[in-house]
Amino acid sequence: MAEAQNEVKLAATNPEAARHDDDEAAAKRAKKILIRRPGMTGGRMSWFDRRNVKTWRHATQLAFVLLNVYLCVQFYLWVRYYETGGATLQVARPDGVGGWLPIAGLMNLKYTLMTFEIPPIHPAAMFLLVAFFLVSLLLKKTFCSWLCPIGTLSEALWRFGQRVFGRAFLPPRWLDLPLRSLKYLLMAVFLYVVVTMSADAIEAFMVSPYGLIADVKMLNFFRFIGATALITIIVLMISSIFIKNLWCRYLCPYGALVGLLSLLSPYKVRRDAEACIDCAKCAKVCPAQLPVDKKMQICSAECTACLSCVAECPAQDALQFSLRPAKEIAANGDVQGVRRRWRRRTLSGAMLTLLLAVLVGGVIGAAKWTGHWETLIPDAIYQQLIPRAQQLAHP
Ligand code: SF4
Ligand code: SF4
Repeated sequence: MAEAQNEVKLAATNPEAARHDDDEAAAKRAKKILIRRPGMTGGRMSWFDRRNVKTWRHATQLAFVLLNVYLCVQFYLWVRYYETGGATLQVARPDGVGGWLPIAGLMNLKYTLMTFEIPPIHPAAMFLLVAFFLVSLLLKKTFCSWLCPIGTLSEALWRFGQRVFGRAFLPPRWLDLPLRSLKYLLMAVFLYVVVTMSADAIEAFMVSPYGLIADVKMLNFFRFIGATALITIIVLMISSIFIKNLWCRYLCPYGALVGLLSLLSPYKVRRDAEACIDCAKCAKVCPAQLPVDKKMQICSAECTACLSCVAECPAQDALQFSLRPAKEIAANGDVQGVRRRWRRRTLSGAMLTLLLAVLVGGVIGAAKWTGHWETLIPDAIYQQLIPRAQQLAHP
């Protein structure tokens, strides 16, 4: 009894030691030897360790948020120049804002596929869409948890809620499932609109005054936001503090689309049953509530490849973001055998960051190199349209 009390006291005073003991106990229960992942001390990996996948993901998220803030500020200055009739600072138009025009990107993609011509209006929207589709096809739904600034905000809100209130919520399963289908419904509506448009109709929309400055209209939506839209955004943000990934999990049509594409990704979260000690830590931290500890690979469209599960796993080679293991290598409990099974098939945080940069940067570079990145609209048209953007209605 006294021993048990001492253990409880030890756990309360030294949580790291308790985590360590928990892992050992899980290994014993599973009748396996726990081989700890290198770099882990007290069940955690230092933030400064280059092997820490969380550090790489958060650094990439931060870089993308900063990039988007930079794009927004530059775009705002560019718009102000035309609004003030040239009285303010003149800056170049940041074509990267096309990333905020996914519908224009989809329209342009359809137009290109139908006509084999790259449209001159908002081509960057299409190239960025293609880059994010490629990322999803090859590297799961990393777009959502590594790149998207809305995904980052959503995550920051529920983590804040978890810190303040001790937990974040997910609706019960009976409600979670129908709510999750909402995003697919929205996706289907947008896809239907674009798919049923002819190439001529797309061209007519793009060269209409509204289409030419669709990016300015998007900016003005937030600058001169109406009461209903503002209240909706505030309600969504407050709810996101309590409900994990509310926007991404239930409402984002873009996330729904890249989630479906991600099902084809050769890289997935994969578990090695021989190295796994069945501690279930991976399932506990999964924000999508996936049974990571029970599956050999995660094939769900809800897996955002955040790799929180991989970061939390204490056992070496038990959980990784990887290609299929070499099946022919039977480890039979041999640690080196398990190693060989996964050799050259796993992606570290650093490699994943590098691949994301190469894929997105490569598509942007190719578009720039071939002269298809910039929107080709004469200055005089911007001078005419931007000052009266608020009066332009959707055609
Ligand atoms: S399975 Fe792992 S990578 Fe996928 S969402 Fe859950 S924690 Fe993130
Ligand atoms: S894969 Fe999951 S259950 Fe297995 S050791 Fe890692 S954290 Fe524990």
